[in-house]
Amino acid sequence: MTLYDSLIAEYRTDTGLSVENPANGDHLFTVKNYSVAEVENAIENADIAFKKWSTLTGKARAAILRTWYDLIIENQHALAALITAECGKPLTEANGEVLYGASFVEWFAEEAKRLYGDIVPHHADGKRIMVLKQPIGVISAITPWNFPVAMITRKVAPALAAGCSAVIKPAEATPLSALALEKLAIKAGIPEGVFKIVTTTDPVEIGKVLTTHPTVRKISFTGSTAVGKLLMAQSADTVKKVSMELGGNAPFIVFEDADIEAAVAGALISKYRNAGQTCVCANRFYVHENIYDNFIEKFTAAVADFTVGDGADEGTVVGPLINEAAINKVEELVENAVADGATVALGGKRHTIGGNFYEPTLLTNIDHTNSITQAEIFGPVAPIFKFKTEDDVICMANDTPYGLAAYFYTKDMGRMFRVMEALEYGMVGVNEGVVSTEVAPFGGVKESGIGREGSRYGIDEYTEIKYSLIGGI
Ligand code: ADP
Repeated sequence: MTLYDSLIAEYRTDTGLSVENPANGDHLFTVKNYSVAEVENAIENADIAFKKWSTLTGKARAAILRTWYDLIIENQHALAALITAECGKPLTEANGEVLYGASFVEWFAEEAKRLYGDIVPHHADGKRIMVLKQPIGVISAITPWNFPVAMITRKVAPALAAGCSAVIKPAEATPLSALALEKLAIKAGIPEGVFKIVTTTDPVEIGKVLTTHPTVRKISFTGSTAVGKLLMAQSADTVKKVSMELGGNAPFIVFEDADIEAAVAGALISKYRNAGQTCVCANRFYVHENIYDNFIEKFTAAVADFTVGDGADEGTVVGPLINEAAINKVEELVENAVADGATVALGGKRHTIGGNFYEPTLLTNIDHTNSITQAEIFGPVAPIFKFKTEDDVICMANDTPYGLAAYFYTKDMGRMFRVMEALEYGMVGVNEGVVSTEVAPFGGVKESGIGREGSRYGIDEYTEIKYSLIGGI
């Protein structure tokens, strides 16, 4: 039986959350709509499971997580097909996401054995100071549709490695790959209750349970800044620890001395990956006035070559947007940008294929006062600004409440350090258009978030520090 068939056999229901393919509107299948009582029950089960899971050795948890990793890799293509079917991204990207998602499970399986504490030099005779890192308890997570596998593993793998148990609400658009992860986790031997996916058509109601239930000690969220703020407010009453990975408005700067070919290659991947629907996608391009025309010519030629279509078709580079609301939003942003004076150099409208497809678009001759500078585009649209000086472009790049990822291209060594340090962002790509990897800390500053995911820092989000003073020695 294929993974898809076994999911249908196990999770399909007659009524509940209906899942559609954004490329063609086809109904995939319907999954359970968890009630408030059932989610509360999942939290209580997670609490019971936590008591056992947290007492296993790091090595024992590592072995089980490693088995989960192996199963994800074994099922890479089946998982990728599910991702493409429910979220629309091209199959090559979906396969890449499965590897990326799995890498967090591998990494944190290894880290499970290295959750070291400290012995602090004591301050008085006859005493000793010991610092432990302990799992925080039951955690909840709410995840988005744009990386339906990786955004779950990036949270759950460190949580489980630390000894926590987790209740996860995936996005309404993409519950199937989440359920596939749950299925593989059970097969890997992750005990009942330690990792539970709850699917729902009502994120508001279920979100309230996950942020207010006193047993939940931490919430990790990836999604929009507006929802993140709401979840933080809801979590305040029970003083939960929070990790927030929120919206971005990434600047992509090309200095006069940059390698233009490399900058164009970086721009293409940074902007058009997942049809522009990632929180680290380049959102605003700033190109030095002396190379502006040259950059635009090369960038336009490359984008004009993109094949737009169903992500499941071979050769597709840009898939559909996730739904009708997303395409309406992008359409409105472009209309407003043009009303504010931008020129459409390429695209600028819905694709003739129809449905949720939008043409890869380039906007030029834009003034920094244009409304699009403040919007998180989340679509295949690249606004390209001209700048004169390093100081000017740093000011423009930082002129946003967001601070997730930023990119710049230069060959000047001094400038690399000056600009990297001056950018108010959690992650900076220098001569690189993609920064995500499980070995480095992912996260934002300002209204882009709190906390870091991946790397040796990621597991700390799921632990509490306990200090013990031991006297009478
Ligand atoms: P996007 O616009 O990218 O869909 P959202 O922030 O709306 O971003 O969604 C990200 C996740 O947040 C999804 O799982 C969604 O169901 C969930 N979500 C949206 N609104 C709420 C809410 N009021 N409470 C809890 N979760 C929510």
